[in-house]
Amino acid sequence: MSSAYKRILLKVSGEALAGDNSFGIEPPFLHGIASQIAEVARAGTEVAIVVGGGNIFRGMSGAADGTDRVTADLMGMLGTMINALALSNAISRQGIKSKPFSAATMPSVADTFTARDAKQALEDGFVVVLGGGTGNPFFTTDTAATLRAIELECDVVLKGTKVDGVYSADPMMDPDATRYAEIGYDEVIRRNLKVMDTAAFALARDNAMPIIVYALDDEAGLAGVLEGRGLSTRVGD
Ligand code: UDP
Repeated sequence: MSSAYKRILLKVSGEALAGDNSFGIEPPFLHGIASQIAEVARAGTEVAIVVGGGNIFRGMSGAADGTDRVTADLMGMLGTMINALALSNAISRQGIKSKPFSAATMPSVADTFTARDAKQALEDGFVVVLGGGTGNPFFTTDTAATLRAIELECDVVLKGTKVDGVYSADPMMDPDATRYAEIGYDEVIRRNLKVMDTAAFALARDNAMPIIVYALDDEAGLAGVLEGRGLSTRVGD
């Protein structure tokens, strides 16, 4: 069975790359994610990835310690570039062509992101790995994921988390929490279900971009989730 989607945007958080640690990149987790991505790409789906940076630096933490917020967010965005280089290289080592792009100009490190060049790379069979978030402070890589999905005309955003979808309450805290198969953008925002930030959901709603929330450790893997086998929640209209 193949995926219903031609082009997807996958959000990979920094936390997913850190695995059992809270800081840095754990090779088994990096390679596990790269191999799931390679499987999907090999089956013919075009894959764009936005990487987070929480395993390296978060602007909010820096600001809390007194660093000016704009500087702290630049540090956070640079952290996402480290992850982008690592993930793009790990995907290449799976035998799949991959190209990193940076939202900020750093020509000796990666091509600067433009929707035109990234789309061309996708059409040429590259998995594109987008670092640097939106390139602006006060945003998150969840918002960057939604923005890039819209810019690159992806069919869907895939957001991997620790739980297998959106629940009525935090399933780690509340045993009566139930998972939604589908939920509307407005309801997620109104109920403040913190799977992604409000800016990301609002942007998705205004541009009718569906979001699938699934568990990173789903047995069916990313390919299975795309084929509708794994558990997930679809956030849409
Ligand atoms: N960041 C930013 N603008 C963006 C995306 C990210 O300033 O468009 C900074 C921000 O400081 C954030 C850090 O980069 O804390 C890491 O991104 P994020 O927290 O979204 O990573 P994740 O939680 O997905 O690992």
